[in-house]
Amino acid sequence: MTDTPPVIELDRVTKSYPGGVFALRDASLRIWPRELTAVVGPSGSGKSTMLQLMGTLDRPTDGTVRILGHDVASLDDRRLSAVRAGWIGFVFQQFYLTSHLTAVHNVANGLLYHGITRKARLREAATALDRVGLGHRLGHRPHELSGGERQRVAIARALVARPAIVLADEPTGALDSRSGETIIQLLHELHDDGTTITVITHDEGIARAFDRRVEILDGEIRSDSGAGVTAA
Ligand code: ADP
Ligand code: MG
Repeated sequence: MTDTPPVIELDRVTKSYPGGVFALRDASLRIWPRELTAVVGPSGSGKSTMLQLMGTLDRPTDGTVRILGHDVASLDDRRLSAVRAGWIGFVFQQFYLTSHLTAVHNVANGLLYHGITRKARLREAATALDRVGLGHRLGHRPHELSGGERQRVAIARALVARPAIVLADEPTGALDSRSGETIIQLLHELHDDGTTITVITHDEGIARAFDRRVEILDGEIRSDSGAGVTAA
């Protein structure tokens, strides 16, 4: 056994809705540090539900979610917000950038609750944008950027607080295939630099290039190609 807990652990997690809808059923999964994982499955299979639970954006109906060994159920809303802000970076299909803010200010907002000065936030944001290849676009607003560039800004925002994991839900879903490929390539590069990343996708082609593939269907994990090298 290793002393390091999984970054995220789902232990027999179920999410159901009134009327007998099981969005996720009895799912167990451990994500280890430095893993690059794809969760793949068709539309409606429970992928976003799984990501929301992994990211503590939602609480399970049954089972246990642990973040770096901490049981999410034992945390009040204030501590849960702190866990999310400090340890988890999110990337979504629709970017969710603030339209009137420049790229560097959008990214700097990822550090708003980290108790550092505005100047330090902007400096860290510029570094993060440089990391995603947008060091020359700091002053551009979202409408002045391509879709692929907007998603890079969103990725920089997810990375800026140096989270334990980046969770991406269909990050290429709103992009043309070529921009999508460069975003996936960027995620691979960030992983090579040591970032732990889980990507949700319905695209088999994308999932194939990942170290670890978890297949989900009808709310159940159907296969898992296995934990990466750091697993015990
Ligand atoms: P995916 O991301 O793979 O497309 P989702 O996780 O969004 O799938 O949804 C999984 C299933 O759960 C779907 O059948 C969906 O309709 C259902 N579902 C998701 N959210 C809710 C909700 N708030 N209320 C009822 N059913 C929901
Ligand atoms: Mg989804």
